[in-house]
Amino acid sequence: MLKVHSRCDLSCDHCYVYQHADQTWRGRPPRMPPATVQAAARRIAEHARGHDLPTVHVVLHGGEPLLLGAAGLRKVLAELRTAITPWARLDLRMQTNGVLLDEELCRLFIEYGVRVGVSFDGDRAANDRHRVFAHGGSSHDHVRRALALLRRPEHRASYAGILCTIDVRNDPERVYEALLAEDPPRVDLLLPHATWDHPPHRPGPEPTPYADWLGRLHRRWVDDGRPMSIRMFEALRPGGGGTEAFGLAPADVLVIEADGSWEQVDSLKTAYHGAAGTGFDVFDHSVDEVARHPGVAVRQEGVAGLCATCRACPVVDRCGGGLYAHRWRTGTGFDNPSVYCADLLRLIDTVDGYPPPVPRQRTATAPGSGEWPATPPVDELLDDLATGHGSASTLALLAATQLSITRALLAACRDAAGATAAWDLLVHLDQVAPEAVRAVLAHPFVRPGLVHRLESSAPPGPGAAVDPLPALAIAAALRAGVPAALRVPVRAGAITLPTLGSLLLPGLGESAEVTVRPGELQVAGGSVLLDPLAPPSTGWLPTRDVPVPGGRLLLEDGDPYRDCYGQPVAPRLEVPAARALGRTLAEAWRVVHRDVPAHAAALDGGLRAVVPLAPDPARPLRSATARHAFGAVAVTPHADPETMAVLLVHEWQHAKLGAVLDLYDLVEPAQGIRIRVPWRPDPRPPEGVLQGVYAHLAVTQVWQSRAATDRPDASAHAAHFLAWTRDGVDALLASRSLTAAGERFVGHLRHALEETRVGSA
Ligand code: SF4
Ligand code: SF4
Repeated sequence: MLKVHSRCDLSCDHCYVYQHADQTWRGRPPRMPPATVQAAARRIAEHARGHDLPTVHVVLHGGEPLLLGAAGLRKVLAELRTAITPWARLDLRMQTNGVLLDEELCRLFIEYGVRVGVSFDGDRAANDRHRVFAHGGSSHDHVRRALALLRRPEHRASYAGILCTIDVRNDPERVYEALLAEDPPRVDLLLPHATWDHPPHRPGPEPTPYADWLGRLHRRWVDDGRPMSIRMFEALRPGGGGTEAFGLAPADVLVIEADGSWEQVDSLKTAYHGAAGTGFDVFDHSVDEVARHPGVAVRQEGVAGLCATCRACPVVDRCGGGLYAHRWRTGTGFDNPSVYCADLLRLIDTVDGYPPPVPRQRTATAPGSGEWPATPPVDELLDDLATGHGSASTLALLAATQLSITRALLAACRDAAGATAAWDLLVHLDQVAPEAVRAVLAHPFVRPGLVHRLESSAPPGPGAAVDPLPALAIAAALRAGVPAALRVPVRAGAITLPTLGSLLLPGLGESAEVTVRPGELQVAGGSVLLDPLAPPSTGWLPTRDVPVPGGRLLLEDGDPYRDCYGQPVAPRLEVPAARALGRTLAEAWRVVHRDVPAHAAALDGGLRAVVPLAPDPARPLRSATARHAFGAVAVTPHADPETMAVLLVHEWQHAKLGAVLDLYDLVEPAQGIRIRVPWRPDPRPPEGVLQGVYAHLAVTQVWQSRAATDRPDASAHAAHFLAWTRDGVDALLASRSLTAAGERFVGHLRHALEETRVGSA
């Protein structure tokens, strides 16, 4: 937190900087001098470089940072960017009262990617109870004008949210409505700063007025469907991730004052004069030296750094003793529960009394299918998958939702082209032989074909994507043994019937009349007659499969839509190569069952097909998944089942998480954030990091299982993947790029990781 300006243009009577115990601001320069900015930036860069940090968060703060003006702020931002970005991603934030915000400043913040939080206490009466100018005038209109500027589409990316300090004399519903009207991405509700020496205002005999007040606001928020993120309520839920005010995460904030002093979190200024001081400054002391200061170190100890009352508290993992400053009492220092302890206990109780939030859910319809599963129990589903693997029932749920998405795409194709004979046949089969339709539509490469068709902008003709519905209908009819006849388009010289095989005959043209009789497939002119269950006939290339525990695995090297992996797929394998790959896959499956039975159950529950990738001597070991092809993974045909087992487990993690991301937003959309990770040279978007940590967690679990049986090198591999996963999880949590559901999911991954680590000790 960089205090770029130590004075303010407002005179709020609840301000901890000027109105509370600490008065050190009086001896500091109003503006942070350029040499101090430079020294601060270099210190931050030095720390990022020394610790290989993926991201550094810098909050421009005050007093009021906008008093620096656009030119002054530009110099600070440029200095920070120049010094830090060679070493780490720079996440820039600002906390302001908004009074001076104008269009020029908004453009500057967009240019530098600064996300701006505005202090605003609600409706006019609530805001002006404290947030006024020195002459007593209202700031309400000024702040609302600033919020309107940030809401504009061209500035919206810089709108971080609202910081609202509550006062129990205000009407919580009016405060809620005033906040909601500003359409903030996130709201931070703050309890007014208080200590045991200076307890909070309690207007009546009720023991928990703050919990009562927040409870009313919480009820209204829940009744409205949680239309905005309110961090306090989200953080207090089980696995909510915590904030500076709640939870047991190590404190990760240091303050650089306008004179270059290193200080602890500045809410400490409420405790006593000089409470936040460390005696260090950016000119002579590194971050590591400050981190060893006892006041900072004690806040790295989690529950061990709390008082005996908090350590014994049943909700300590969520409350964490409340904000550090609120524990102060002369005589016992910070070794106390929060002065808001009773309110916090009751508030957690209140939050627990409501069902868990349902993350924003994209809609998908399942026309006529009746297969859309009951609304998924979101927390349960995410918590189950965050164990690293997920249960069979969760896998069944994911598979069902994927099937439903495929059905929705099928209906969209029908809507685009109008009802056809193929559609009518599918509808009929769905009534008389639903299992056959389900088996075809669940094939991993049906959805890529439908998407290809829907995204094709070419007009009907040779360049257009073929209509996939006739082949789907014929495949379902053949499986059901229901007589049917359709004209089926030819793609890449073949008619491919998903799950069954491809008909590859010379002279098929652009389409061919195909007739199904029980056990027979006949192409126009009677040129081919075959039984798909009989030995292969001329021109018929059946899809081969491999027996594995729990069913049969398709070796998919014929479906034309398997080319969705962004890398070349192998052409149809010769028989010896197909048999060899089949043996490796079957053995690899047994290895997964041996090493990580929980992952094996997840594989059994959903993996249907493996696609061989084209060999590449430069990269002999490759694997891939595709978001639209749930149920399949692609691998290079590697001969070693132990290696293949790791590839399967790794890629199946991506497939599962892709299916989850089809349902729920775990990452805030379009923030443009990039995160450095140890397994890639280039910074990655948050979703890529999330995919990476989920896959690496599973690989860690495989190697740890092998290490337990003293397999050579297994411990080293386990430690390597554990370190990668841990770094990725920490970087994600620090990036503030996750939704509430995402934070919950990654928070649980961290727990799984800890269990993994403990298990290996
Ligand atoms: S705007 Fe912020 S820094 Fe300024 S007086 Fe108010 S609370 Fe203090
Ligand atoms: S402050 Fe109170 S509610 Fe919070 S952890 Fe301590 S004892 Fe529990």
